[in-house]
Amino acid sequence: MKEKTQNTGLTRREFVKTVGLAGLAAGAGASQVLAAAEPKAGAPKAAAVPKRKLGKTGVDVPILNLGCMIDTINNQLLLKQARNWGVTYWDTAESYGNGLSEEGLGRYFARNPGARQEIFLVTKLVAKKGDLSNRLEQSLKRLKTDHVDLFFIHAICGIEEMTPAIKEWAAGMKKAGKFKFFGFSTHTNMENCLAGAAKLDWIDAAMITYNFRLMHTPKMQAAVNACVKAGVGLVAMKTQGGGPVKCDSEAELKMAGRFVEKGFTDKQARLKAVWENPNIASICSQMPNLTILGANVAAARDLTKLTQGDFDSMREYALETACGYCAGCGRICMAAVDGQVPVNDVMRCLMYHRDYGEPDLARAAFAGLTEEVRQRLTNLDYTRAEQACPQGLPITRLMRQAEEMLA
Ligand code: SF4
Repeated sequence: MKEKTQNTGLTRREFVKTVGLAGLAAGAGASQVLAAAEPKAGAPKAAAVPKRKLGKTGVDVPILNLGCMIDTINNQLLLKQARNWGVTYWDTAESYGNGLSEEGLGRYFARNPGARQEIFLVTKLVAKKGDLSNRLEQSLKRLKTDHVDLFFIHAICGIEEMTPAIKEWAAGMKKAGKFKFFGFSTHTNMENCLAGAAKLDWIDAAMITYNFRLMHTPKMQAAVNACVKAGVGLVAMKTQGGGPVKCDSEAELKMAGRFVEKGFTDKQARLKAVWENPNIASICSQMPNLTILGANVAAARDLTKLTQGDFDSMREYALETACGYCAGCGRICMAAVDGQVPVNDVMRCLMYHRDYGEPDLARAAFAGLTEEVRQRLTNLDYTRAEQACPQGLPITRLMRQAEEMLA
């Protein structure tokens, strides 16, 4: 029987999910926003967002950084508040809003003298689109700065993309003062990319998909340890572990309830799980409004440690919802479809829609697929890919849904 809570009229499931999962939504008042940024009463807390060293760069960066795949042009207040709260590491890319994200940051720097020096600034370019030097110059122009602190080759799928030509280009750009540090970002085959990066002495840092679902696998742990040994600074992204399928599991309810009783949301707990690994210097989090920013800042300042029971609860949830999560092991499904459809890229589009609740972003990412891929998307036989997928994802059905929802 579905028991309703006394004051809200919601079922316990609805209540916990509303408060715990989506209670910190856009539209809260200023006092709620400020309250959200405060760790819960009595919790051990840091005065500001703590910092950690980013590998061999030697730079101390805040453990929470602002993922700028958001409307930075109309969100100048968010940038101001991030800076005020010590979120002084901003991550953007040429492809975020086709340069509009960089433009918004540039406007902020132009209007706020001194801000650029305070911010650890990162931008990224997809190497496959060619002419990196010219495009980097355009990025710097939009950002209204002469350099970025860290530059990433955007979204590599394998370490072989870090070619000798890229190495030479990066050395030249460093020498020219266009960026101080160099690395790559990846949400595909992360473990292999990291293991490869540890063998290249010219990679300063890497940003990878890393969350409570992936962080305990032996392969990921070995890859992270190799990077730590080699001094490669590590930044985590996609830390919420959301997938292309929206799951409604009992374990999720249990997990959300457990953390609400402890005084924080399960979304905050997912961040804390990643920070429990001291080798992760920072989490890149897309925070589109002040309330989410405030909640994440509070999680960063709250020094309460997660218990073994907390991790067990997350593990139970991860196991129960594994078939709704794409683990980014794109090599497996790509090989099974002879490279004809980048299955995990399509999964990511669905995740933007279903987990982030960002249909425009999902459609924009989907629109980036080539015409040939779009033609094949719903005509291909995915049987072998489904058999090979370690998460057991219903790939055929999800490719159809992507076409229906995002085309
Ligand atoms: S094999 Fe499955 S889990 Fe791995 S990237 Fe492909 S769809 Fe995602």
